[in-house]
Amino acid sequence: MQEVRPLLTIEEAQARILERVRPLPAEEVPLGRAAGRVLAEPASARVDLPPFASSAMDGYAVRAADVPGRLRVVARVAAGRPVARELGPGEAIAVATGGVVPGGADAVVPVEYVVGDDNSIDVATGIPPGENVRPAGGDAHAGAVVAPAGTRLGPPQLAALAAAGVATVACARPPRAAILATGTELRPPGDVLRPGEIYEANSFLLAAALADAGAAVDRLAPVEDEEERHRAALERGLESDVLVTSGGVSVGPHDLVRGIEAELGVEEVFWGVAVRPGKPLSFGVRGATLVFGLPGNPVSVLVGFELFVRPAMLALQGAAEPLPRYARGRLRSAVRRMPERDQLVRAVVEHRDDGEVLLQPLEGQESHMIVRAARASALVLVPRGEGELAAGASVRYLDVR
Ligand code: AMP
Ligand code: MG
Repeated sequence: MQEVRPLLTIEEAQARILERVRPLPAEEVPLGRAAGRVLAEPASARVDLPPFASSAMDGYAVRAADVPGRLRVVARVAAGRPVARELGPGEAIAVATGGVVPGGADAVVPVEYVVGDDNSIDVATGIPPGENVRPAGGDAHAGAVVAPAGTRLGPPQLAALAAAGVATVACARPPRAAILATGTELRPPGDVLRPGEIYEANSFLLAAALADAGAAVDRLAPVEDEEERHRAALERGLESDVLVTSGGVSVGPHDLVRGIEAELGVEEVFWGVAVRPGKPLSFGVRGATLVFGLPGNPVSVLVGFELFVRPAMLALQGAAEPLPRYARGRLRSAVRRMPERDQLVRAVVEHRDDGEVLLQPLEGQESHMIVRAARASALVLVPRGEGELAAGASVRYLDVR
């Protein structure tokens, strides 16, 4: 069937969203609480790293020109201690890994290559200058950028900043995100279902996904399909930086979300994306608040979040590359294309030893099948078109593990 209403492509919808995002103001964050946050400004090394020429091995600091030969041991340096004296000709100073290499020394002979006692050592082989010495600033010089603005701080970035002496970082404040599940049929897990009811799943998906994307989450109590309850809850949700609703954005008589949002002053930017699942997704703004209306089926929520909400959350925090990053792999079995819509097909990724990435589409691709979707490790992008993508076709996919 031909769509009457023109639908945006995924990329058009993403562009419309990102052009409405205003990054949130920055605050100073202690490094110990900065995991997952996004740098608002570049962070620079406070010191050379390493701060001083240091030894890469337990051994003896020497002049390379003095070995092979017999050397007098004139001092011992423990890690964390300065060196008492310069190294003179014919001398050796014992150093521990990470210890200061004294002035005058230009190499460290590992302890395994030395015979000797407390007073003198014999070194049988030569050693090139610089061997086993980590020069000051060899990793980064003082003032060098350790991480540029827009970097999301993961474990290696946090360690790098700490090592470079950075105690606090400027990061966008965490976006406040409200979640509202709509639907008279919804009951919380644990309740007994009456006829026609189902368990409410979307707010659990969204709460976890939003927190993962850096948000401070406000999970509102789900509302039934009744105007006054919608209005009260939506009004509260609109006080956040982001409001994500689920359900109630299709064309049925109980789909109230968009109408009431309009009454509350939400400007609808678009409604409808050429994607399966998740077509009737709506996006609007009220002031600085971004408003996402995801359709109710849980797999539509999963896909809509990854394609549209997560990029917005990252952009709000000033991330340099907020859009989803696709990887490449090959289909293990054929997938039928849709003429009008791109599909995100749930699949299991297999990384083979030969470097091939294989994607096995799962049985059960309907948008209510969240149990099937929960087994997936990939969302495979199947571009719209005629016919099918054959087994072995190269495709792009999003990692969802
Ligand atoms: P709707 O978009 O409101 O028409 O909902 C589409 C389908 O998703 C219906 O079968 C709903 O029962 C279901 N659904 C809506 N909200 C949720 C939810 N929060 N958790 C699980 N299923 C839902
Ligand atoms: Mg509904």
